[in-house]
Amino acid sequence: MTALAGQMMHMPLLISSLIRHAARHSADTEIVSKRVEGDLHRTTWAQVEKRSRQVAQALARLGCGLGDRVGTLAWNGYRHLELYYGASGSGLVLHTINPRLFPEQIAWIANDAQDQVLFFDLTFLPLIEKLAPAMASVRHFVLMSDRAHMPAQTAIPGLLCYEDLVQAEDGAYDWPALDENAASSICYTSGTTGHPKGAVYSHRSTVLHAYGSALPDAMDCSARDVILPVVPMFHVNAWGLPYSGALVGAKLVFPGPHLDGKSLYELFEAEKVTFSAGVPTVWLGLITHMKAHGLKFSSFKRTVIGGSACPPAMMKTLQEDFGVEVIHAWGMTELSPLGTLSKLKSKHDSLPHDAQQRLLEKQGRVIYGIDMAIIDDDGRSLPWDGQASGNLVVRGPWVIGSYFGRPESPLVSVDGEPGWFPTGDVATIDADGFMQITDRSKDVIKSGGEWISSIDLENIAMAHPGIHEAAAIACRHPKWDERPLLVVVPKPGVALTREDVLGFFEGKIAKWQIPDDVVFVPEIPHTATGKVQKLKLREQFKDHQLPAA
Ligand code: ADP
Repeated sequence: MTALAGQMMHMPLLISSLIRHAARHSADTEIVSKRVEGDLHRTTWAQVEKRSRQVAQALARLGCGLGDRVGTLAWNGYRHLELYYGASGSGLVLHTINPRLFPEQIAWIANDAQDQVLFFDLTFLPLIEKLAPAMASVRHFVLMSDRAHMPAQTAIPGLLCYEDLVQAEDGAYDWPALDENAASSICYTSGTTGHPKGAVYSHRSTVLHAYGSALPDAMDCSARDVILPVVPMFHVNAWGLPYSGALVGAKLVFPGPHLDGKSLYELFEAEKVTFSAGVPTVWLGLITHMKAHGLKFSSFKRTVIGGSACPPAMMKTLQEDFGVEVIHAWGMTELSPLGTLSKLKSKHDSLPHDAQQRLLEKQGRVIYGIDMAIIDDDGRSLPWDGQASGNLVVRGPWVIGSYFGRPESPLVSVDGEPGWFPTGDVATIDADGFMQITDRSKDVIKSGGEWISSIDLENIAMAHPGIHEAAAIACRHPKWDERPLLVVVPKPGVALTREDVLGFFEGKIAKWQIPDDVVFVPEIPHTATGKVQKLKLREQFKDHQLPAA
């Protein structure tokens, strides 16, 4: 028996359809960029679409063909946006590289992806001058600026100028009808252990992710929004905002490299930003600046915070002191990246404020398109009771099935059914589907066979009025294997003691989970995506002597 065929049009889900839609329906909606050069640049979706076609023509003239990889090393800005659409839309594969990685890693990634052309911002000229000889596959280096900013002399062979390339083209270009399953972009995980691995997104996965992430219980994006992605366009496609922004026709505001509290605040106000997204650490700077100067927001309504656990204290400050709704989200590079977001259901309306807050502090519910489960070490699924914690696995049309250039499958089975991606996170899920990450499996502190969540300890510490930032790590212990050590950055001018900090944990957590010791440091190391570098901290404090009990 064959099924009756559906008789709807076959329209492939293509990235070019997003920019065409934005150009047609939101033609004069603005894209504002704080440039590397220092000034503010204004354009529109219609102009971005036209220039993306010119970029596509220029890439073809440089000899790029279907499936070729095009690397970028760039901040959030309109030229990067043009490359998002010009490269992917024309059947090339955009490879956004994180410039905060170690230089050797950048070269390694460009080689692994076999990038043919590399576009980079002015900021990275000295870096690329050093790295160019190591980037064997790159045939053309393009500086993302105009003629006036081209260096008089450079070590980069045949360095090209972005504006020269774009302006030489007429834009008479039709977006090709590609296979929706063709690769559209690549993003590498930051690779805290071993080499980074590439997640290869497709047109279809990207468009579906854009649809899903714009939903009201997700990022809730609309044409009335002014979106400022603080999350970089090299960190999992700025969590899809360049795509979902086009899908809904929102105004986009790009901060370029200007990510300090003062610059961000001024841009939020000047452009009447309503919505933003970023990792917790970026909000620290903004909050400190605003508190120091007694500032308030006039238009900023809500923000997505994710990438690492958002401390409840930060959520409270943004909500109560600044009137900004915080949407806690969880995701990963392998998920394009959005998996879950925390939004209440109507049944929660009658709950007391504290109980609502505890739900919002979780990583939240899946977007349709993501399916999740928690499993034990034998692959058996665990109950959704908010208590049982297990390895979090997911599947869905915007979850990777394999890594770039790696034949081995990363997937695992759940209750004997194959095809689930193991996230490496440990989580609970409650009966309403609210997922809560207890830890990354490699960060969890194993004390005498019991697990202590480093996130729980950090969340408590971050609520201490004298603490700027805190990280909990496992420290070797002769009797318990591991015990928690808290690494603390005090707020400027605050004199904290170990007793102060440990006393703050009393009554907030079981006694045996309270850290054994506290060390004070001027700064905590962060990864290229702004997360606490636990591996480095563990290395740094591997010989730390815990006080005798
Ligand atoms: P990497 O940091 O390795 O580059 P990603 O940026 O993809 O990789 O990070 C994904 C990981 O970040 C998740 O597996 C999880 O451990 C962590 N993460 C993301 N969002 C949250 C969150 N809201 N709370 C806790 N952990 C999070």
